[in-house]
Amino acid sequence: MRIAVIGAGIAGLVAAYGFQRDGHDVVVFEQRRDPSADGAGLTLFGNGLAALDAVGLGGLVRELSSDAIAGMRAGQRHPSGRWLFTLPPRAVASLRSIHRVTLHQALVEQLQPGTLHTGASAIVAADGSGNVTVARTTQRFDVVIAADGRRSRNRAALGLDPGLSYAGYTAWRGVTNVQVELDGAVGETWGRGRIFGIVPLPENRLYWFSTLNTPAGTEFGDEHAAVRTTFGTWHAPIPQILEATSPHDVIRHDIYDLAKPLTALARGRTVLMGDAAHAMTPNLGQGAGQGIEDAATITLLLRGAQADGVDDALASYSRIRSRRTASLWRQSRLMAKVAQASGPVTGGLRDLGMRVVPGRLAGVASAGMHFWDEPAG
Ligand SMILES: Cc1cc2nc3c(=O)[nH]c(=O)nc-3n(C[C@H](O)[C@H](O)[C@H](O)COP(=O)(O)OP(=O)(O)OC[C@H]3O[C@@H](n4cnc5c(N)ncnc54)[C@H](O)[C@@H]3O)c2cc1C
Repeated sequence: MRIAVIGAGIAGLVAAYGFQRDGHDVVVFEQRRDPSADGAGLTLFGNGLAALDAVGLGGLVRELSSDAIAGMRAGQRHPSGRWLFTLPPRAVASLRSIHRVTLHQALVEQLQPGTLHTGASAIVAADGSGNVTVARTTQRFDVVIAADGRRSRNRAALGLDPGLSYAGYTAWRGVTNVQVELDGAVGETWGRGRIFGIVPLPENRLYWFSTLNTPAGTEFGDEHAAVRTTFGTWHAPIPQILEATSPHDVIRHDIYDLAKPLTALARGRTVLMGDAAHAMTPNLGQGAGQGIEDAATITLLLRGAQADGVDDALASYSRIRSRRTASLWRQSRLMAKVAQASGPVTGGLRDLGMRVVPGRLAGVASAGMHFWDEPAG
């Protein structure tokens, strides 16, 4: 079959590889001229890795990523360094971390030469007929995957756009380029309306992310200085990590999720995938993992399908993926509210809650989220 993928992010690239491996004729349209990833690190849980295995990419990603978290104490700390909560080892046993640029480059390299068309902004036909227009030229495809990110123009073109909602906080991210000692502990530190997270990457580098409640569109000027001012007095090694990060490697994005989850992810021969389908807050670390699950699900559903018989596969994709991702969208939004609690009462209750939640419960709660199985059809 002839398949168009719009967007060379993680979701689109995994889908393109899966389709190509199954013998489909695949074209990827990416609007940027240089499609290299921005961003810092990325964590992937067992569900994302299982989905990568299903399309033949699990081995590659395991090779390029780190499983160091599994051997460390992980959980939530107070800015003083006092532990609020330690995750049971099984909650992070499957967790791997990777530099986004490494992952993105590796995925691009897996595609056959000529698959990726850069500088190609693509728009689908509103009726989902399979027509895709790039630079005023329209081509017809048997299936179209719109994986064009949270601000997806194609979601809007299909009439499926509920709009975006600001989550109330902004997020800085960075990667260290000098080794910093972790003393065997990682995870998140929760202050009032602000969080700092530490994740080990391969080659003794660290990925960190930090959040701050602030109105949308707040300007900070010098981002590195702003993040050091916000977190510079927190427990070690947070100040050391910021010191070990080059100012050029600090990025910041205001956090938005979909205003409400979509109940349909397909129109005609066109489906939405990744953030275009289910942009969620990053609080569960599941955005890319869900995009990878989407990619593996549609790949498997279309395996062996003929061009005139894709309707059932696309309907199954829409049903299976909208149910799964709507549930995670809700959990992620709730977690954002809890984690970003800023008042003395709400923040204090949250910290108390973290201390009394039994680790066993956290293990059970994460079990379903971190598990993915092949679609039944
Ligand atoms: C602070 C933060 C931390 C996060 N941490 C994690 C984590 O640890 N684990 C995790 O799983 N997820 C995480 N996420 C979420 C994750 O980053 C996203 O869910 C994921 O990268 C989305 O991938 P995507 O391929 O759907 O979209 P994108 O990466 O946005 O890619 C979309 C692509 O489409 C292109 N495009 C857009 N419009 C067009 C067009 N019309 N034509 C052609 N191309 C187009 C864009 O240029 C872009 O390359 C985090 C997010 C944030 C903000």
